Amino acid sequence: MNKEYRKTIIAGNWKMNLLASDVKAYAEELMPLTPGFKDWCEVVVCTPFTSLGAALCAFDGTDVSVGAQNMSMHESGAYTGEVSGAQLKDLGVGYVIIGHSERREYYGETDCSVNKKVHAALGKSLMPIICVGESLEQRETGITFDLVALQVKSALHGLENLSDVVIAYEPIWAIGTGKTATPEDAQTVCKAIRDVIAGLYCKDTAQATPILYGGSMNDKNAAELLAQPDIDGGLIGGASLKPASFAVIINAAK
Ligand code: PEP
Repeated sequence: MNKEYRKTIIAGNWKMNLLASDVKAYAEELMPLTPGFKDWCEVVVCTPFTSLGAALCAFDGTDVSVGAQNMSMHESGAYTGEVSGAQLKDLGVGYVIIGHSERREYYGETDCSVNKKVHAALGKSLMPIICVGESLEQRETGITFDLVALQVKSALHGLENLSDVVIAYEPIWAIGTGKTATPEDAQTVCKAIRDVIAGLYCKDTAQATPILYGGSMNDKNAAELLAQPDIDGGLIGGASLKPASFAVIINAAK
């Protein structure tokens, strides 16, 4: 089994950008620029919570899926400001980003909380996009592979199968900085992640698991990154905010 048998996923992470009232125009601009994308990739738009309803409405009847950027590890209850998996599922959300480095850095998310959220997402049939990746300091210390392997193992702890799991390798030093990992470096780490999954599960599971790259992917560098044998798509921040550049990336996945 090789790349042809895996899903290619192009996921936009809007972070804390755009308004609910911007979504309709965004969808109307994006759709005509990406005719037939369903033939070569899945497209996911991960909006802030406040725009999820508008996005589900704007993309209704299209093949674009809507994702959230975070969720609670808890089922329900006294967790002011949190949003549960059941609440996302009830809206019609299909994906949820878990453990983005910004959540780890600014909101104290740990490998342990990431694992709990992954279980909570799967428990509600939400597809988690699990983010892993090293800081510049960690890369320069030479611990990238060990660190990423630990993040992957921790995130997947206790999962019987990975049929509904997506991993995103996002080197922190490349996120929002304009510095992209070279296609070779990104490929090397994505391949290492696949090897970790093969060790934890089996070769077939590893071959079937989509592994995305994220970190300043844009309309100029996407084609080369997406051509790498172990990169099955992208998690895209800045360049997903403009439908025209996001469309170029979607089309580059062909
Ligand atoms: C991200 O937010 O996951 C990301 C990769 O951002 P950017 O593309 O802006 O680096």
